[in-house]
Amino acid sequence: MEEMVRSIGFVCPECGAPEQRQLSVFAFSGGMTEVHCRRCGKSKTKIIRNGDRILITTPCIICNERHTVMCSAHDFLYEPILAFSCVNSGLDCCYVGREDIVKMGLHKLIDILNAAGDEAEQKANRTVLKETILFEAMLQISDRMDRNKVRCECGAEAWDVDVRGGNIDIICGSCRGRLRLTAVTMEDLEEISAMEELCIPKGEGDR
Ligand SMILES: [Zn+2]
Ligand SMILES: [Zn+2]
Ligand SMILES: [Zn+2]
Repeated sequence: MEEMVRSIGFVCPECGAPEQRQLSVFAFSGGMTEVHCRRCGKSKTKIIRNGDRILITTPCIICNERHTVMCSAHDFLYEPILAFSCVNSGLDCCYVGREDIVKMGLHKLIDILNAAGDEAEQKANRTVLKETILFEAMLQISDRMDRNKVRCECGAEAWDVDVRGGNIDIICGSCRGRLRLTAVTMEDLEEISAMEELCIPKGEGDR
């Protein structure tokens, strides 16, 4: 007769490694069982049998706390899969069940974690790019100012510059005419670079 085993899976919050262990059901016949992260040894899932109940305390990769859940010993030993979720995020943080299904669960969890990491990185990159474009555009504009290539239809030669979001407004100091330049994408920047002169349309004075 095939020995009955249960698979326990979690992702170690200390080192990020997925940990999956096969344990004979006899390991859960009484007392406490611990499953340590084999890579760093710093985190562990604790399983405590108390009569018909099983208490599981597991580290959580998502919020870095420990979560304690309870289930019936029957479910623990016979359900194909039990997914215990993080109370703070609702995402799974620990699986108990059949080896192949626990493995799939861990893969899914790792994918979610990787996607979340990539998104944060992409967001940071986009922010850096935006700031670089805005900065380059400001350099271009100040270069035109240095070379007296900024003028207003009203003939004045004093202006204010107002930067908001991805928009750079050059405002005539006399008629308050406004030239808006958008500097968000690389195309915007190319367009600004190509402008030999910046001409402010005449405004209607302070309103
Ligand atoms: Zn670890
Ligand atoms: Zn959590
Ligand atoms: Zn003007």
